[in-house]
Amino acid sequence: MDTLRALPSVHQLLEEEPATALIAAHGRPLVRFAVQRVLEDERRQATVDTSQARWARVEATIQGLRRPRLRPVVNATGVILHTNLGRAPLAAAAADATARIAGRYSTLEFDPQTGRRGRRHDLVADALRYLTGAPSAAVVNNCAAAVLLMLTALARSKEVIVARGELVEIGGGFRMPEVMRLSGARMVEVGTTNRTRAEDYAAAITSRTAAIMKVHASNFQVVGFTEAVELKPLAAIAAQHHLVLLHDLGSGALLDTTTVGLAAEPGIQESLLSGVDLVAASADKLLGGPQAGLLLGRADLVERVMKHPLARAVRVDKLTIAALAATLDLYLTQSFGEVPIWGMLRASAESIRSRAEAWQRRLADLGVAAEVAAADSTVGGGSLPGERLPTMALAITPQKGSATELLRRLREHDPPVIGRIVDERVLLDPRTVLPGEDDAVVDAVTGGLA
Ligand SMILES: *Cc1c(COP(=O)(O)O)cnc(C)c1O
Repeated sequence: MDTLRALPSVHQLLEEEPATALIAAHGRPLVRFAVQRVLEDERRQATVDTSQARWARVEATIQGLRRPRLRPVVNATGVILHTNLGRAPLAAAAADATARIAGRYSTLEFDPQTGRRGRRHDLVADALRYLTGAPSAAVVNNCAAAVLLMLTALARSKEVIVARGELVEIGGGFRMPEVMRLSGARMVEVGTTNRTRAEDYAAAITSRTAAIMKVHASNFQVVGFTEAVELKPLAAIAAQHHLVLLHDLGSGALLDTTTVGLAAEPGIQESLLSGVDLVAASADKLLGGPQAGLLLGRADLVERVMKHPLARAVRVDKLTIAALAATLDLYLTQSFGEVPIWGMLRASAESIRSRAEAWQRRLADLGVAAEVAAADSTVGGGSLPGERLPTMALAITPQKGSATELLRRLREHDPPVIGRIVDERVLLDPRTVLPGEDDAVVDAVTGGLA
């Protein structure tokens, strides 16, 4: 313990010469904090560092605190909407729009024409109405919030009928029965896991029923002996009994996914045309925008929902509105190619192959062997489960070390390159690698195998 007497005080250390430069670069409070922490470590471990080692640790502590944890990665997984990697990358126009608004005051809730207060969700309502045909539109934080809000505002203390086969868990603990409970609505389950008929819904209606809810089974498939009720007959039942038909659509594509060779993902327009009264959809799934939840449908319902106090708790930020408006503008002008995820969905196997081959050639020039192999990309993000997009990926079999090891080294690259392992090979799928990220892939692989 006597050795610890040799430990200098925080005060003494801050007077030492290396402190001066660190304080100039990082400010005194942060340097003091790092010094305290390093001294505590020494005390706990009953060691006394050399002055040089101690200052190196102080500097490393400061760097650790200041290093941005939210940083770009290269998504070479082939999963287009990768929730853990931030779902849809924004279009350049949307990123620019966000940057233009971020550091300034804006017309977020102010109408410069009248000088009066405006409503933030009205800023994108016209575009959403035009694009979807919805009579009215609003925006909240995400689709989960939109669902919770519509149930709370329209069905609290009342009954909502939902098919057993649609009591889904979206992920991150978002389970339909729990959301219902949270909203104060009483869930009335009908049908069985695999089959629900129109009569099941009709038989469950009571004087306490407020709504019928349809939930899109977005992240799983039920195959075999199945039956579900389409939106149109459900809308007829709802109308006949003066109930509202709510639809948790999830992804909510504005474009037809069959045009890129995928199964049909139910669209927003289609849902509204089928007679749904209020639809909730995500803005950062197949729409390709920022995280947000869209509420689209009957004007009186949108009004009621957005007047509920909970709406204030789930309102969107100005940056979201800026990005969403710019993304919707690309749909208004049919500039779909500029929405990155639609570029990825549409990329031909040929164009992907030539990119993988270009990586392969560059690596060969650097003495690194890799193959180009057929694989599958997926949509991800709770959209089109089971659907695969044929792709051509760079496949690397490490000569020394395991594929897991290489995968880890690719992750440790700056920027991290995220791949996947299939059959003991590391696959890097060009489909989800953005233009301009090719150098990072080649660097990461050469570094990872060195
Ligand atoms: C993804 C999804 C949600 C949640 O959407 P977020 O925008 O992530 O909150 C809700 N419902 C369904 C059916 C979904 O697919």
